[in-house]
Amino acid sequence: MFNAHHLTPEKISTIVKQYPTPFHLYDAEGIKQNVEQLLKAFSWNQGFKEYFAVKATPNPHIMRLLQNQGIGADCSSLAELSLAEKLNMQGEDIMFTSNNTSKEEFQMAKRLGAIINLDDISHISYLEDCAGLPELLSFRYNPGSEKAGNVIIGKPEEAKFGLTKVQLLQAYKLAKEKGIKRFGLHTMVASNELNLDYFAETATLLFELALQVKAELDIELEFINLGGGLGIPYKPDDKALDIEELSTSIKRLFETLLKANGLGSVKLFLESGRYITGPYGCLVTQVRHIKQTYKSFVGLDATMADLMRPGMYGAYHHVTVLGKESDEVTEIYDLTGSLCENNDKFAIDRMLPKIDVGDIVVLHDTGAHGYSMGFNYNGKLRSAELLLRSDDSIQLIRRAETLEDYFTTLDFGGI
Ligand SMILES: *Cc1c(COP(=O)(O)O)cnc(C)c1O
Repeated sequence: MFNAHHLTPEKISTIVKQYPTPFHLYDAEGIKQNVEQLLKAFSWNQGFKEYFAVKATPNPHIMRLLQNQGIGADCSSLAELSLAEKLNMQGEDIMFTSNNTSKEEFQMAKRLGAIINLDDISHISYLEDCAGLPELLSFRYNPGSEKAGNVIIGKPEEAKFGLTKVQLLQAYKLAKEKGIKRFGLHTMVASNELNLDYFAETATLLFELALQVKAELDIELEFINLGGGLGIPYKPDDKALDIEELSTSIKRLFETLLKANGLGSVKLFLESGRYITGPYGCLVTQVRHIKQTYKSFVGLDATMADLMRPGMYGAYHHVTVLGKESDEVTEIYDLTGSLCENNDKFAIDRMLPKIDVGDIVVLHDTGAHGYSMGFNYNGKLRSAELLLRSDDSIQLIRRAETLEDYFTTLDFGGI
């Protein structure tokens, strides 16, 4: 959030003089320092790698920053694989974790040499038929009732992702029979989780499973991908995850479960999106109208097209009004966009200082799953993306959409 990073109110007020609102603004230096901390925390594990979940912020400039720090790409679609390819990423710098996967997606993942992480046992033969089997294969585990779910991702038994434990063991056996030599294991059961115990529990499940795979099938896993889902403090009173503490608790489990049983060379992977970029972005908007009916509505120039999380699952994004950060909080507002949908709101019954038309309203922590979730319903156009670089310069890393972009798939001939 503000002040912890470089996206200060002073900085934003100079940027709004040069660039029209709305726009997402990202903090390159903040992202960089955060990644350094993460890599340092896990440096005890030989081969540790973070694969950035591209869907969180699919912008090549952000991906390049991360790539320069040795971060890989976690892709799940053709578009995400294409982005990785445009950055000359290939081989095991890419992890392909998809579901209900198309032939074209598997073919592209195989062509790039990405680590392919299968979501179902039936995908072994599907992959074999459409692209041929790679030398390394990974499977996504769904622990079902062995693991309680969390709010965004839901209960594992209800989730469409991954293989059951029985299927997983069969899948490794089958893959081995088909000549696969190298194996990985993956799960992703949390989203925006701030509780360290949750991750320790997941690590325990996976480490024990790795021992079972070794004992029953004589397969030594090369890596275990603990997934993403590391949370960030969206609310002012949320406590940030202590990455050192998280790493230490996983290290302890790694040593007692894996290392003590001859699996000390297993590489650990993470595929976080939100944790990497979430706090280092904000959506900068301007107040267009103030409307007073049964409630007080502040109409912004951004819509759900730019930030869906509040409308989609009631997510909290902290809000500040530029220049009024320390004003007394006296009003209760709904902050809205202009979509013809009543869930097009960024905040409901939010206590804020008195707002005037023309004020700049900043929605915090939009650096992940912000721009990228946007949609064009109602013909609403998505905003620009700006990057505040480490040298303090501003770079437009995506222009705003135009009506021409929106109409580009239509054929107006013969009407
Ligand atoms: C979305 C997703 C992630 C990233 O989730 P975050 O909450 O952003 O860390 C990682 N892996 C998979 C498979 C995902 O679908």
